[in-house]
Amino acid sequence: MSTETQKYTRNNPYQSTMLVNYVMTDKDSEKETRHIELSLEPGMTYTPGDAVGILPENRESEVADVLSALGYKGDERVLDHYKVEISLEEALRTRLAIGKLTRGSVNSYAKIAPETTKGLDFLKGLAGADNKSKAEEYVWGREFFDLITEHPGGITQPQQLFTVLQRLTPRMYSIASSQAKATDTVHTTVRVVRYHTHNRDRQGLCSGHLGERADVGVTMPIFLHANQNFRLPEDTNAPVIMVGPGTGIAPFRSYLQHRQAEGHKGDNWLFFGEQRRASDFLYREELEGMHADGFLTRLDTAFSRDQAHKIYVQDKMRENSAELFAWLERGAYFYICGDATRMAKDVETALLDSIANGKDCSPEHAQEYLSEMKKQKRYQLDVY
Ligand SMILES: Cc1cc2nc3c(=O)[nH]c(=O)nc-3n(C[C@H](O)[C@H](O)[C@H](O)COP(=O)(O)OP(=O)(O)OC[C@H]3O[C@@H](n4cnc5c(N)ncnc54)[C@H](O)[C@@H]3O)c2cc1C
Repeated sequence: MSTETQKYTRNNPYQSTMLVNYVMTDKDSEKETRHIELSLEPGMTYTPGDAVGILPENRESEVADVLSALGYKGDERVLDHYKVEISLEEALRTRLAIGKLTRGSVNSYAKIAPETTKGLDFLKGLAGADNKSKAEEYVWGREFFDLITEHPGGITQPQQLFTVLQRLTPRMYSIASSQAKATDTVHTTVRVVRYHTHNRDRQGLCSGHLGERADVGVTMPIFLHANQNFRLPEDTNAPVIMVGPGTGIAPFRSYLQHRQAEGHKGDNWLFFGEQRRASDFLYREELEGMHADGFLTRLDTAFSRDQAHKIYVQDKMRENSAELFAWLERGAYFYICGDATRMAKDVETALLDSIANGKDCSPEHAQEYLSEMKKQKRYQLDVY
């Protein structure tokens, strides 16, 4: 990444314009995944594997609900984190995390709340390491609004919100484009988080913003974030194997665009997975097109809900175990992107099994083979 890029950081973001924002998943899908394109200033550069940081704003309706629950109008003056005076409305919209409640916020609220606060004993009883699981249970699926409506009376000065609430933080998204093709734009693939808990419809702070309040033409503060641990091989002839189910496809779209535009000769193998082929096959036309013209050497898909028994990317790897191992022996680089909680572990297990089968060796020796790949930077993860 050039030094020019560093001009814009999370504390000094670039005001980017939304150029493209559409839903890729079909209306029958259980998910809402969007393709987003944001403008860059000439000179802002990124490398495939990098991420873009986006600074979201809280929903106006959410801000209004909090103001009304606290009995404020919004024009009260407060000092932000840099001691700059702003209105309380602006603070709640752009500076403070009023979404997802944290244990820390509940503790701070209980500490400053006057004795008259409803249910104060209950809130105080959630403090301390011994009560962690009780506190986790309380905050699950709740937001700040729930705390102040279930236990009203705790906030007596608007400025106290800066003690109770965490700072609004940017969210990172893997970049889904290559500047070899999209010079002055950055693309991302965003799954919009929506759920219903404690009788209220909720949405993720940033993905909700992108899903609802980020029409083409609006501006959003962004910055580019380098990820040196997720890089295409320097040897352009080296084969790459990419496992990217769901939004994990994003950096591999970037890799493929890049390799194609730059004329890299190495083979490309992509494993993609989602729930249903008909409604959830992200970038289907592009990927099938690249596969049809031979650039994407192999495209293996796993749609878990298209048949009675669930099939995942790791099952597709197992089906193709011998060939997978042959690619590794040819020096292939192996990449995983997407869900960290389960997918990445299952894919690693399937990879180790392929190595053990291919080499006809023990699990310990397969681990050593993988460790060697890691040393050579041939095994890289971008999981979240
Ligand atoms: C390096 C990196 C790359 C990433 N790349 C991508 C990407 O390419 N595409 C992408 O979509 N995301 C990506 N992410 C994730 C992304 O940064 C955000 O975390 C994600 O969009 C959610 O943020 P949000 O602000 O919308 O939701 P938040 O406001 O942060 O809310 C999410 C939280 O809501 C709660 N929640 C969610 N569902 C439920 C439920 N059903 N019940 C109760 N609580 C629930 C959970 O506590 C969850 O942690 C990446 C993350 C990292 C670190």
